[in-house]
Amino acid sequence: MITCTHLDQIDVTELPAAIPGCEECLRIGSGWVHLRMCMTCGKIGCCDSSPNKHARVHAAEAGHAIARSAEPGEDWSWCFVDEIAFVVDSRR
Ligand SMILES: [Zn+2]
Ligand SMILES: [Zn+2]
Ligand SMILES: [Zn+2]
Repeated sequence: MITCTHLDQIDVTELPAAIPGCEECLRIGSGWVHLRMCMTCGKIGCCDSSPNKHARVHAAEAGHAIARSAEPGEDWSWCFVDEIAFVVDSRR
């Protein structure tokens, strides 16, 4: 049961064909552990295990609550406001 109230923010469900890495880390020459994609604007950021946590920073700064995993084979999403993980059914 999804209790996230931010699902209407979702605009982007599909990952881009090519992901060079975390946009902000590439800019500052840092590294990342895992990648996340903002489901509102499609921005690629790094996960909470990464030193700069750019996905979380972007969520807070832009007010975009939901990001999905950008790792191969992973389709779960995460709401930074509700702090819950779920899978968005993009086939609807
Ligand atoms: Zn939410
Ligand atoms: Zn980053
Ligand atoms: Zn965004």
